Parts: sequence; C-alpha cells; structure tokens
Amino acid sequence: MPRYYEVGVEETPSLEEIPNILNPSVNGLVEIGRGCCRGCKFCSVTLRPLRWCPLEKILNEINVNFRDSYTSGACLHAEDVMLYGSKNTVPNDEKLLRLHEAVVRKCDGGISWSHCSLAAVVSKPKLFSQIAEIILQKQPWLGTEVGIETGSPELARKIMPAKAHPFKPEEWPEVVRTGMGLMHDNNMIPACTLIVGVPEETENDLIKTIELVEDLKGIRSLIVPLFFVPLGRLEKETWFKEAQITRLHEELLIKCLKHDFRWIDDLIALSYAGKWYAKPMHALYTLFVRIIENKARKAGIQ
Ligand code: SF4
Repeated sequence: MPRYYEVGVEETPSLEEIPNILNPSVNGLVEIGRGCCRGCKFCSVTLRPLRWCPLEKILNEINVNFRDSYTSGACLHAEDVMLYGSKNTVPNDEKLLRLHEAVVRKCDGGISWSHCSLAAVVSKPKLFSQIAEIILQKQPWLGTEVGIETGSPELARKIMPAKAHPFKPEEWPEVVRTGMGLMHDNNMIPACTLIVGVPEETENDLIKTIELVEDLKGIRSLIVPLFFVPLGRLEKETWFKEAQITRLHEELLIKCLKHDFRWIDDLIALSYAGKWYAKPMHALYTLFVRIIENKARKAGIQ
C-alpha cells in the first residue's frame, strides 16, 4: 500500500460501499452522512455527493463504540447534522427527530454534533428547539462547530453563495446573528470559524466581519479565525501567510481573542461540571488561559 493515498472525487464511494466501523472510533464519533450540497468555493467536501447513513447503521456503530465500555456517548458527525436525511438545504423534521430520539435513548453519556449550519437552524427554529429539548433531557449543554467564515454579504455571495440557503447570501450576517441567538437560547455552544485572507477579500469585507463579531459578543461561543488554505475550487490560489496581515486583520484577530476571553471561564466550568476530574482539569485550563491573557496584555491587548 502507498504511505499516502488521496481518494479522488471519481472514486467517491456510494453509501453501500462505506463499511461499518469494526473497532471503537476516537471520542465516540459516528458518521451519519458524507458530502455537502452548499458548494462553498473554498471547501473540498462539497465536491462529493450528499449521502445519509440509514439509522440502523448509525445505531450499529454506536454499539461498536460502546463495546468494552469505551464510551457511553456519541458525537454525530456530518458536515451539517441539522440536514440529516434531507435532499436539500431545508431540514427533514421526521428523519431528524427520529435520529435524535433513537440516539439519545441509547446514549446515557450524552451526545454532541461535529458540525451544523446556522442557515438550517434559522430555517426551522421550532424544529431546532425540539431537537435541543430531546438532547437536553440527558445533558446540560451541547457542543458543535459552525462555519461563519465572513460577516460580509458581498464576500459571502462570491465565495459561498449557498451557505445562507434557503436565505439569500445578502442575508448572511442576519442569518448568523439569528442562528447564534437560537443556539444561545437552546444551550448549544458553537465553536465558530472565520476565514481570514480569502483571495477576493477587501477592506470593506473585513470591517463587516469585525462588526459581526462585535454583534456576537453576548453569545456563549468560541470564535476562531483561520488563515485561508487553498482547497476545493480555490486550490490553485496561494496560502494566506502571516506576512500578509494588515491592521484590519489584526483588529479582527484581537476582537476574536477578546470574545473568547469573555466566555472561556464559563465554558471551562461547563465542560467539566459534575466530572470527577473537574478540579485538576479546571485548574489546568484556567492556568493556560491566564498565561495567554498575560501574553496578550504584554502585547498591549487590554
Ligand atoms: S464549508 Fe461547510 S457548508 Fe460550505 S461546502 Fe464545505 S461543508 Fe458545506
């Protein structure tokens, strides 16, 4: 076998060709689907078709993870868990409810989602609250990862025109504000990503992203800016490098850092609440955060 093998788009396996896992996965991760229909230019996932795993396969894989008491929970993995069983960008109520009822019944150790989209949350707020209610029967909060990427409607239209769908790209900042508000109200805690240094990014785009991060200050979350990496339909572009950072980039990075400092103590406390190892882990993470805060202060960030 070669040491490294990249599965080309033309080799994408069909649902039937994806075998069940044989041994427990890392952190109880269970794949519920592959692919994404949103078509963001900077993403390679979207080059592959959308496939949702049948509920039976998902429950079987959870059983594998439960073997030898490795875990009693599950992290449901898909590019957008809210779209489980859907053929487009609107959630399928019946399939999503059935999935969560079955998985939550099985998992005493609680569940998390790997990723979900704010547009899907905003398109069906009542369904989202119902799902959160099912999950929160057994746990106080739920974590997931969310792609915000930009606060600029113009940049959203250029690089991720369907990210806001069924809403228009021009509505993207409002979709983000509403979706994040719904998450906050339903005890879902998102770790959000932003993309910094996309080839077509302008100063105006950066200002709009800075304004959006400011608007999200009251939402319990982490916001993590990531430098642009050439992938998907932008794979021929060049990497964004530290040397290209402008004053506005700096301002955005600092704004995200301050947002995270504002929420981090709450998040550490929530993460370890009720765990036997809460005290040492809480102390360790708090020390780590204080070191970063101290470094930030020395660099003039108040
Ligand atoms: S970035 Fe997310 S929403 Fe966009 S295509 Fe990739 S997986 Fe889908």
